[in-house]
Amino acid sequence: MSSKKEFDIVIAGGGLVGLSLAAVLGKADFQVAVLEARQADFDWPQGSIDLRVYAITRASQALFADAGVWPAVQAKAAPFREMRVWDAGGSGDIHFDSAELGEPYLGHILESRVIEKALLDVVADLPGVNLFCPARIKAFEEQADRQQVELQDGRLLAAKLLVGADGKDSLVRGYAGIHARASDYGQQALVAVISTQYPHEETAWQRFLPSGPLAFLPLTDGRCSIVWSADSDEARRLMELDDAGFCAALGEAFDYRLGKVLDCGERLLFPLRRQYAERYVVPRLALVGDASHVVHPLAGQGVNLGLKDVRELSDTLLQARQKQRDIGSLSVLRRYERARKGDNMATMLVMDGFKHLFGSRVAPLCWARNLGLNLVDAAPPLKNQIMRAAMGL
Ligand SMILES: Cc1cc2nc3c(=O)[nH]c(=O)nc-3n(C[C@H](O)[C@H](O)[C@H](O)COP(=O)(O)OP(=O)(O)OC[C@H]3O[C@@H](n4cnc5c(N)ncnc54)[C@H](O)[C@@H]3O)c2cc1C
Repeated sequence: MSSKKEFDIVIAGGGLVGLSLAAVLGKADFQVAVLEARQADFDWPQGSIDLRVYAITRASQALFADAGVWPAVQAKAAPFREMRVWDAGGSGDIHFDSAELGEPYLGHILESRVIEKALLDVVADLPGVNLFCPARIKAFEEQADRQQVELQDGRLLAAKLLVGADGKDSLVRGYAGIHARASDYGQQALVAVISTQYPHEETAWQRFLPSGPLAFLPLTDGRCSIVWSADSDEARRLMELDDAGFCAALGEAFDYRLGKVLDCGERLLFPLRRQYAERYVVPRLALVGDASHVVHPLAGQGVNLGLKDVRELSDTLLQARQKQRDIGSLSVLRRYERARKGDNMATMLVMDGFKHLFGSRVAPLCWARNLGLNLVDAAPPLKNQIMRAAMGL
């Protein structure tokens, strides 16, 4: 029998959300174990860009600063000062400009692997954080004042709290018997890095097409990362086009706002679903990030919501420790659930609403959404409120 290692918190899943939580808790002198199944490969070719990029809000930037990773990623973060959103099915057009709020930018576009590497470097330097990688959970069991966690290689860990940060197919959620309600959007998101004829103007662009939203996100090297959500058949058709055919289709779908699309690299598809866990906490267990909620990527909010979970859960645990309360007790964990469930659910419903509203070809709805976009564009107080929400402020 292997000897059991004791921690305050075991985090299953070392994606961006799990690693951020480990960094924040490690900095607060908690004893933390992170279990990650996948060994990251950071040996990427010079000049290449990760196909996974994220629009990071100001709130997430603040969390990265607290976690100690912002200085390492800042130079590779592409700020976007403006956002332009328009409707392919009419004249609706809205323009957000950070200058109207007296702010230098609305957010940043960052490569997933750049953040992940910076987070791994930070946690490697924190004496209280132990990374187990590659490692997978085999089972866990609540025992009096502990959660006992068994790894697939037979190692045993114990902690006052187990956190499931293991993504949308969370094994921890399933083992804990927490039901997740999921529905398939019937859409896939095609991602690629592309070059355009005209500069991106440090602007995040989004055109709502009847088949789904198409976003162009500005990168530091002048190229754009695109997220093109489309019905699954259409997405597969786009994947099968040769590069020239794809660039032509993309330029047209984007209304040539940045001129022609000159070239594109590798393309990847992500199936899209919405999903929410019925509970975020049970005694000695909490879920964070995609393990508890999955939203449509049309507003780039998934990781940002997960990082808000991190902020709330870490604050909850710090406060409980200060008051000498048990960090795994349900009464402590409920505070976290109460604070996050409503916000995550509201965001999911808004994303759903946008998807259905802009996917509709029904004439009165098309008219109403175009009018709505133009009205909001002409109403600075409302527009400023939307901008602040999009910045996570
Ligand atoms: C096309 C697309 C574009 C997106 N764009 C944005 C955007 O611009 N902004 C934004 O905020 N969000 C965006 N998102 C959403 C974002 O990708 C997710 O919300 C985010 O990756 C969730 O992070 P996570 O750490 O919770 O989960 P994951 O990234 O899924 O990480 C989970 C980790 O757990 C590990 N794991 C899983 N099972 C086990 C196990 N049994 N044992 C140990 N480890 C395990 C996995 O290897 C993984 O590393 C986008 C999503 C898509 C599909």
